[in-house]
Amino acid sequence: MIRIAVVGSSSMDLVVTSAKRPMAGETVLGESFITVPGGKGANQAVAAARLGAEVSMVGCVGDDVYGEIILENLKKNHVNTQYVEPVTGSASGTAHITLSEGDNSIIVVKGANDFITPEYVEKAKKVIEESDIVMVQQEIPEETVEYLADLCNMLQKRLLLNPAPARKLSEAVIQQASFLTPNEHEFEILFDGRDRTEVLTEYPNKLFITEGKNGVRYFDGHEEKIVPSFEVEAVDTTGAGDTFNAAFAVAVAEGKSFGESLLFANRAASISVTKLGAQGGMPQRVEVERGFE
Ligand code: ADP
Repeated sequence: MIRIAVVGSSSMDLVVTSAKRPMAGETVLGESFITVPGGKGANQAVAAARLGAEVSMVGCVGDDVYGEIILENLKKNHVNTQYVEPVTGSASGTAHITLSEGDNSIIVVKGANDFITPEYVEKAKKVIEESDIVMVQQEIPEETVEYLADLCNMLQKRLLLNPAPARKLSEAVIQQASFLTPNEHEFEILFDGRDRTEVLTEYPNKLFITEGKNGVRYFDGHEEKIVPSFEVEAVDTTGAGDTFNAAFAVAVAEGKSFGESLLFANRAASISVTKLGAQGGMPQRVEVERGFE
């Protein structure tokens, strides 16, 4: 069994549906309310565990009831939570989502995710040392991502950096990452609108761009390639990128080639969009292996 350490965020998504979106100063009656665990770090940890990896999460939750639910959910999904620390006096990360008038509006409160500091990564050094691959996203402080990139480099550990949500990255971190995995929007921000082909050519078998239902694009050292996604009836694409990243990390850690790993990830992510919810749609290993035939 391969081992993965995920350094990242966790949160509780508070989802309201309402026929009408309230104006400033207005109160409206909503229709439904649900809470679902999320956060890119936790989502990727859960996705990787379902695909058969032994996963350890490194992160922080608040000392509130959401923190308890987040931990319970990770454990239920067989993610090791030994390195997820409750922060006294802090709220857990939350996303306040209103689904209304055919669109969503979201307020994210980082809460305890802001406490995932470099010191904290240092405390979890053992689990990083023992892993086959390390995953990180950008819902945690920038200095922590930089610290982790340095540490992985020092320990000769492969680091998958999923630059989501979009944020500029230092050249050093880009160089230190083993895999860089933006979606189209994140790619634009990360590389300042530079020509896609030119940038891809600079990072063969390291940079891939996920392009929603079109699939994923990369440069294999000889030519630019696109691995088309599978044609499915998309019900909810939330968390598609998280499933993709986790599946890629699992496959690559198991020794599959870059191209084969993208194919595996494409299959996992395509399955994930056929079901509701970010974690709700994340497939088990057997489902991915069974595929679409
Ligand atoms: P993000 O969720 O980060 O915005 P994308 O939208 O690029 O990421 O999707 C990531 C991957 O999920 C795609 O590369 C593809 O494999 C899969 N995917 C996303 N949307 C669809 C879709 N409508 N049909 C099939 N696969 C999809």
